[in-house]
Amino acid sequence: MEPFANRNANAPVCNEQTGAGPHQFRTVEADVHGYISELLSKALDRGSLDQEVSAEDKERLLEFLTRFGDIGGRADAFAYTGSSRRGYAVEPGAADQPGQVLGPPPSLHEVIAGRTGRYLTFELGYDQAMMMFQPVGGMDAISTALHRAIGADVVALGAEVARRAVEQGAKIHGPVYRAELDDAFSVAWNRTPFIEGGTAIWPDRGSGEYALLNEPAGRVYFAGDWLSYFTGWQAGAMDSARYVVQALHRRVCAEG
Ligand SMILES: Cc1cc2nc3c(=O)[nH]c(=O)nc-3n(C[C@H](O)[C@H](O)[C@H](O)COP(=O)(O)OP(=O)(O)OC[C@H]3O[C@@H](n4cnc5c(N)ncnc54)[C@H](O)[C@@H]3O)c2cc1C
Repeated sequence: MEPFANRNANAPVCNEQTGAGPHQFRTVEADVHGYISELLSKALDRGSLDQEVSAEDKERLLEFLTRFGDIGGRADAFAYTGSSRRGYAVEPGAADQPGQVLGPPPSLHEVIAGRTGRYLTFELGYDQAMMMFQPVGGMDAISTALHRAIGADVVALGAEVARRAVEQGAKIHGPVYRAELDDAFSVAWNRTPFIEGGTAIWPDRGSGEYALLNEPAGRVYFAGDWLSYFTGWQAGAMDSARYVVQALHRRVCAEG
């Protein structure tokens, strides 16, 4: 296994619809946290939230927000004016080289209208949070190993869609994205029979279907990530497979 960096402060973030970016993830995060902290601090300080927050908690929260957003204090009207969290235009170095912080930050309006803040929340999900691991080389090392083990001759997957993916990637990473590509394939999950989508999302596990599918229908048992609480993950598929194998084992033992 090797660590998998699901969150990358250097990753470029952009929103083609609003024309914002690409900016580094760290820059977007600094601006979003900075302005949210400024707004909340101002509201607290004006007493707009006095119904919700006690005087003591208000001071505690204000103190937290100066750290959370790297903003000024009361004397500076809690202003977010950018910070080294945004990154550097000129990297800091030794001796007399303090570097040059990237700036100035965009306005509050530009940050909100750019709608890049939405990309900051992905890794807050329980199953997306650091620390994550993957088989050395990536998740497909598992299917490659299975493929090797069963000795199948050829598995061919391919599509024109790769061209478009490279085109999109090159917009952010430049021509190197195309030049360094060795190989690619694509699968239209929504057009794959019997699956028809990338992953299953249960609107409600309590409405009966989930429990029903987790029961055998005669001699037929169902297993898959979609029958676990880890939908969309191989871990869920394996948990589900183990659940079914154990159920089969119990049945065989009981029936003798
Ligand atoms: C785009 C994408 C990215 C993903 N990334 C990750 C990741 O980074 N990490 C991770 O852990 N998981 C990831 N997953 C999820 C992971 O791929 C699945 O959770 C896992 O493959 C599910 O395993 P499974 O055995 O339940 O089902 P599948 O792997 O879907 O296997 C089911 C098999 O049954 C076959 N089949 C269906 N119907 C029939 C039939 N009637 N007769 C015969 N065969 C049939 C299908 O062709 C398929 O081969 C990703 C999934 C997608 C779509």
